[in-house]
Amino acid sequence: MNLNELIRKNILELHPYSCARNEFQGEASVFLDANENPYNSPLNRYPDPLQIELKEQISKIKNVPVENIFTGNGSDEAIDLLYRAFCEPNHDNVVAIEPTYGMYKVCADINDVEYRKVMLNENFDIEAYRLIDATNVRSKIIWLCSPNNPTGNSLNRTELHKILKWFRGIVVIDEAYIDFSTGGSFSSFLSEYPNLVVLQTMSKAWGNAAVRLGMAYGSAEIVNVLNKIKYPYNVNILTQNAVVEALQNPEQMHEWVDKLLVQREFMIKELEKYNFVNHIYPTDANFILVKVKDANSLYKYLVKKSIIVRNRSNVSLCENCIRITIGTPQENKILLDELKRY
Ligand SMILES: *Cc1c(COP(=O)(O)O)cnc(C)c1O
Repeated sequence: MNLNELIRKNILELHPYSCARNEFQGEASVFLDANENPYNSPLNRYPDPLQIELKEQISKIKNVPVENIFTGNGSDEAIDLLYRAFCEPNHDNVVAIEPTYGMYKVCADINDVEYRKVMLNENFDIEAYRLIDATNVRSKIIWLCSPNNPTGNSLNRTELHKILKWFRGIVVIDEAYIDFSTGGSFSSFLSEYPNLVVLQTMSKAWGNAAVRLGMAYGSAEIVNVLNKIKYPYNVNILTQNAVVEALQNPEQMHEWVDKLLVQREFMIKELEKYNFVNHIYPTDANFILVKVKDANSLYKYLVKKSIIVRNRSNVSLCENCIRITIGTPQENKILLDELKRY
């Protein structure tokens, strides 16, 4: 794979905006270069545009070198930037599994890029050759999500490796739910596959959805391209500080995950008892996809009881499916009790 052939020509030739904090990096005592207000420290200063301290913390915990880490305003920023870096509007295309996370399609539409769907099989799993068959010379990205949303299962790792070997474009594996899963991260294969991009987020297991921080791991060349086209100060200082602090305490995250996994197994056992539940799909994430007799009626009933679950009935292969996020033991019990009265 030649990355320069994949990158859009205008992006390859782009001279990025050079901010004050890019031009001078280092220790100094008087900063009169960025038209900042000298008062209201520390919020008066522009934050580090490359978020180095934050990336050093991520690097330690995730075992990914700093140069292979991009951080953005949620994973959603990285998803959008990957389109803008690699996909020529109205010309290139991407291939994605279906059903999956909705943002890959929304960002394709925003960027005017053709989005080719390849249905998962009856086990909600992939077959590498079918994804490759859907590509052509204009295919720049294959979108994969493991554990997948909304199905909850992890994708077959052997097939993932085949796609990484066979496809000459970028292969994105979105691992938003990896901390709930028993399989390891594909980030350990970054040096093996120059076309691999792994997405992770602080929004789920780390309990920091409001803070907005997503990570993209990839070759230094790919990370450089994303850095070149991002907003200069895409991650604000409040977010950088909050995430550095959260990362000091991975035990907290593991404790939450352990609790949620216990609750997940409890919920599966309980939900199986209801006669309107037709099927509970295997899950590797902090949610369960449940096929019921009538998802629309169940959803409306729960809304009346002021409980909100996700009705996925209109999603391909998910007819009459409800996606239930695992909550606290009390929240889960409230749901189960209301379902008894349904
Ligand atoms: C929740 C989720 C994300 C998280 O997106 P952020 O912008 O980081 O909050 C990413 N991918 C998938 C598949 C998700 O379900």
